[in-house]
Amino acid sequence: MIVFKFGGASVNSAAAVRNMADIVSRYKEQRLAVVVSAMGKTTNRLERMVPGVANPDEVPELLAELQEYHMAIVKELFDDGNNEVYNAVNELFEQLRHAVDSAPSPTPQGYNADYDRVVSFGELISTTIISHYLNYIGLHNQWVDVRQIIITDTHHREGRVNWEATRQRTKVIGSMIDSGIMIVTQGFIAGATDGSTTTLGREGSDYSAAILSHCLGAESMTIWKDVPGFLNADPKYFNNTVKISQIPYNEAIELAYYGASVIHPKTAKPLQNSNIKLHIRSFVEPEAEGSTVGPYDRIEPVTPLYIFRNQQVLLSIMPKDFSFIAEDNLQIIFGTLADIGVRVNMMQNSALSFSVVVDDNTQLLDSMTTKLGHQFRVRYNRGLQLITIRNYTQEVIDSIVNHRPILLEQRSRSTVQVLVTEG
Ligand code: ASP
Ligand code: MG
Repeated sequence: MIVFKFGGASVNSAAAVRNMADIVSRYKEQRLAVVVSAMGKTTNRLERMVPGVANPDEVPELLAELQEYHMAIVKELFDDGNNEVYNAVNELFEQLRHAVDSAPSPTPQGYNADYDRVVSFGELISTTIISHYLNYIGLHNQWVDVRQIIITDTHHREGRVNWEATRQRTKVIGSMIDSGIMIVTQGFIAGATDGSTTTLGREGSDYSAAILSHCLGAESMTIWKDVPGFLNADPKYFNNTVKISQIPYNEAIELAYYGASVIHPKTAKPLQNSNIKLHIRSFVEPEAEGSTVGPYDRIEPVTPLYIFRNQQVLLSIMPKDFSFIAEDNLQIIFGTLADIGVRVNMMQNSALSFSVVVDDNTQLLDSMTTKLGHQFRVRYNRGLQLITIRNYTQEVIDSIVNHRPILLEQRSRSTVQVLVTEG
């Protein structure tokens, strides 16, 4: 049994859906589960419609645009205007309209629950269209509501998987797949024990596919992407990228942690635990080999790998009294960062100050400076770039830093991180 994951870019138009169906048809003899994201940039659009952040004057237009976008794809895919997909998709838009029209929740938890309820429609709609289309062209499949299968706690927007319950629920689709039925289901969304809809965090569809692969005991999982595989740098920042053909699981986890965006950071772990290979392949060139994350000893080919994080902020935190940066102060600082939900990309301490590098976000910066401001002097420096290089040499660092002043630097045997000004 194999699991395929198709992201938003691979299903963002009727032509893209046809291409995706063509890829699926090449594997139709296999036992197959297909996990699909929302079409194109749908999730970003839906985020702007959540009660509480949405501008109510804007919502009807956003909703109409989103419906037109999907209906145009449906019309292009189905010659037959009577196909039941029309009703199914319109019905989902009715439910979405209801969700966005509801009154904003007064609490942050309520907002997060509303968020999940609204944004989940992206995947519900995309999979409804795709499942119908695959059936329409003779690729028989069963649409599955993944909210009945992947079970999380009620931590909305970042649901934590209840593995026991999920393993139990997965058996149902496991036996369907074993009996030869292809499954089409949603990435990113899940169901909480209280019956509400949850999500696994932005870009979480890779993780969904990994959860299902793990619970189904899949032979392999494939992510179909718009890049030829795992590259040694983001082609947006780099001209001469090298495709990595083999990556050890741990290396993939480290790279994703440092910010390599090719896979979601949580993806590799459930696969590693059951020794399931993860293929990253191009939906543009489906014959090409791509990259494989698996039980390897080292990255092949051996080459430096670059990860760039832009719009970084360096916070320097200094005790206001005459104390040093010691464990008790660190405890307060970390407690505050954890409370606010800030992710630390790099950190360093000296006797008198503690430095952390985080993604720039005005709201989070404000609450950090306010909360820490009682006991600490907090200074920050914006417009920075954090560069992580694995398998570095001094020559490689010099050429990347390119004479920019280095604000912070950290080296281990395999990895160097430098913080420099952007540009
Ligand atoms: N549709 C979701 C997002 O855009 C999940 C995903 O694509 O992985 O974040
Ligand atoms: Mg994605």
